[in-house]
Amino acid sequence: MNQYYQKDLYAILGIEPDADEAQIKSAYRKQARIWHPDVNDNSQESIVRFKEITEAYEVLTDEHKKSQYDILKGFNFKSSSYTTQTQAKKAYTQSSSTQTKTEFKTETKQQENRSHDKSSFSQVFENILDGLFTGESSPKKTKTEKKKHKPENGRDINLNVTIKISEAISGTNRTVNVLHSERCPKCEGRRFINGAKCPLCKGTGEISIHKKLSVKIPAGIKKGAKIRIADEGNKGYNGGKSGDLYLFIDIEESSFFKYEGNNVLCEIPITPFEAVLGANIEVPTLSGNVSMKIPPYTTTGQKFRLSQQGTGKNKKGDQIVTVKIVVPKEMTEKELELYEQLKLISKHNVRENLLNDK
Ligand SMILES: [Zn+2]
Repeated sequence: MNQYYQKDLYAILGIEPDADEAQIKSAYRKQARIWHPDVNDNSQESIVRFKEITEAYEVLTDEHKKSQYDILKGFNFKSSSYTTQTQAKKAYTQSSSTQTKTEFKTETKQQENRSHDKSSFSQVFENILDGLFTGESSPKKTKTEKKKHKPENGRDINLNVTIKISEAISGTNRTVNVLHSERCPKCEGRRFINGAKCPLCKGTGEISIHKKLSVKIPAGIKKGAKIRIADEGNKGYNGGKSGDLYLFIDIEESSFFKYEGNNVLCEIPITPFEAVLGANIEVPTLSGNVSMKIPPYTTTGQKFRLSQQGTGKNKKGDQIVTVKIVVPKEMTEKELELYEQLKLISKHNVRENLLNDK
């Protein structure tokens, strides 16, 4: 005998034994989203649970296997649910509402022993109780029932996304991890099952679902911009609308680049001999490194313009490079010797004008 005969496949999927194929499929999708090993870091529990729900799904969507299973397990629903329903009503009318549960349980238990195992029975029981309390004889419950069916809109989800300045300029695609809260599929948000805390949501009535979404961030986006992705918030219930997902864009600060309008500013160090002799140096820009010519006799503070290397959608700014002569912290003896020679032959007095003025 297959092992699944020992299990309650309906309970595994969190559905009633009279669920139709669409309900089975939808329940499987819900459960698979929760227990897929990919969203659970391949935890042992998720692997086992995922295997279990997949097996339940496979059996229950296979017409032949399902009917075999239903017969063997006594889920012959079309007829038996009718009888239990009638009996339950009888039990209810005979007893006060506080006693209903226990009385009904004892009464039906004998009958159920015939065909249903315990866990499937408890589902039937829940099902019947739900049906009972919608009746006019229990006004308190009717109120909650009504409340339950009122359309509930899903909450919006806000998410912060930090991108690089280069991504903000040219646009980018980001995969975001969204944590949705959904009504627990096992207890359907009721938190408790047969008086015990729901094992799936631990009594919170909600479960968290990770969802990966690929989002396009348009070129030229500004810091603090808000991107709305419709219907990707938390799910709505009873016909209520789903919430939206809002991405709040933050742009990573760079210690190298500063921004002034559409222009990008930066400071580039050069050596004393590059300053004197001139050089071709590599300068980082928002779109990668570019070569920049330092002419001979360049001095600290001199500015160079790299055209069209700034930001801006329509009219692109420039990158303004300020050079700074940097003296290496350590030099070899040979280098120092050459500087000594330079000192001997050099006749320039850079402070000449300064001193004459005083
Ligand atoms: Zn639950």
